[in-house]
Amino acid sequence: MLEESEARSRILEATIPGKIEQVDLDQAASRFSASDILATTALPGFDNSQMDGYAVRAGDAQQGVELTIVGEQAAGPRQPLLVNQGEAVRIFTGAPMPEGADAVVMQEDVDRIDQTRIRINEAAEPGEFVRREGSDLCIGQKILARGDRINPARLGVLASQGLTSLNVHPQPRCAIVTTGDELATPGSELTEGAIYNSNGPMLASLVRQFGAGEVRNFHAPDEPETLRSVLDQAIQTSDICLIAGGVSVGEHDHVKDQLAALDVAGGFWRVRIKPGKPLFFGQKADKLVFGLPGNPVSAYITFLLFALPAFRKWQGQTVTADSPTLPRIPAKLAGDAINDRGNRPHYLRGWLDLESLTFRPLGLQQSHALFALSRTNALVRVEPEQSRRAGETAPCFLVADSLGET
Ligand code: AMP
Ligand code: MG
Repeated sequence: MLEESEARSRILEATIPGKIEQVDLDQAASRFSASDILATTALPGFDNSQMDGYAVRAGDAQQGVELTIVGEQAAGPRQPLLVNQGEAVRIFTGAPMPEGADAVVMQEDVDRIDQTRIRINEAAEPGEFVRREGSDLCIGQKILARGDRINPARLGVLASQGLTSLNVHPQPRCAIVTTGDELATPGSELTEGAIYNSNGPMLASLVRQFGAGEVRNFHAPDEPETLRSVLDQAIQTSDICLIAGGVSVGEHDHVKDQLAALDVAGGFWRVRIKPGKPLFFGQKADKLVFGLPGNPVSAYITFLLFALPAFRKWQGQTVTADSPTLPRIPAKLAGDAINDRGNRPHYLRGWLDLESLTFRPLGLQQSHALFALSRTNALVRVEPEQSRRAGETAPCFLVADSLGET
């Protein structure tokens, strides 16, 4: 049985980032930059006004002084204007500063005496309400590093550089294979002994959240031949294949044998964690194959701990094997976090209150307890025989839904 970090490191070794592709900027959201990108346009690109008001020489603009308006500068093309001593230019937000002016007095701080004159009510400091060229971003400064995710604000910065396309890492094609004779499709009638397939939709939504491209769903019964042909198809049509169920030790668990028959190799089976011990991992050429345990909580948590790092690395992110690829926040335990049975570290499910930074273990802590999982936003890892008591501080790992894009 492998240790958690050893298992992750074997998975990461097998993961080769996908081939870089160029996409239009409007397709780049949520992707990962394939290169460092340096600014070619400063932000702001020129000195401009932060307010609707009057561009002045700060030295002139003392309280009570009257200035003559010599022109108007709107946002847009620069007018050939010059502000001399005793003069002002009517200016608007985003408009280029006219020559000679070094401050803006906002219009609320002047009296407009007539068409051509204003009186200053509030003295202006040099540079006041002027947005300096390059004060936010200088030419040559790094906008994005390789592997950075393109979030909406970063997409905005890329657009501010006039870019129309971007080199990104691709999104892995993903296959989800559920297994089990007991599974019924939601929408169909439930016969005795059957359960609805919840792993299929849950895993499909998880992989989409973490950047899967095309997602295909498959289902196979617990019958070796059919299972093999479904697995074959799933692996052929995907970069990352997630199988749920059938990897344990029962007589109806055929996944490992059938994967071996399909030459899925080089992997491991079983990891020393709870839940999720029966995790299987293997590869066929560059394709990654995960056999997640069928219990929904185990499937979800093994996805986060083991498949997510592979998804990340595949998309060009730098990932390390030592700890889960999830945001970690220290929090005070609001209840005991007990692990006094067995020799496996236990990922306890619970709720992290982000205001008080307290974590409360929540609901049934068993691997089939899907509803308890659905009310969870964080995990605490408790080592065997090292139970933590209420009041202690422990690192909490935020799970996918709590941050949207962990
Ligand atoms: P297995 O790993 O195939 O032995 O399944 C372990 C447990 O998970 C059993 O109780 C299964 O009924 C349940 N299970 C397996 N696959 C699914 C699924 N797709 N949706 C819901 N429960 C499942
Ligand atoms: Mg099964």
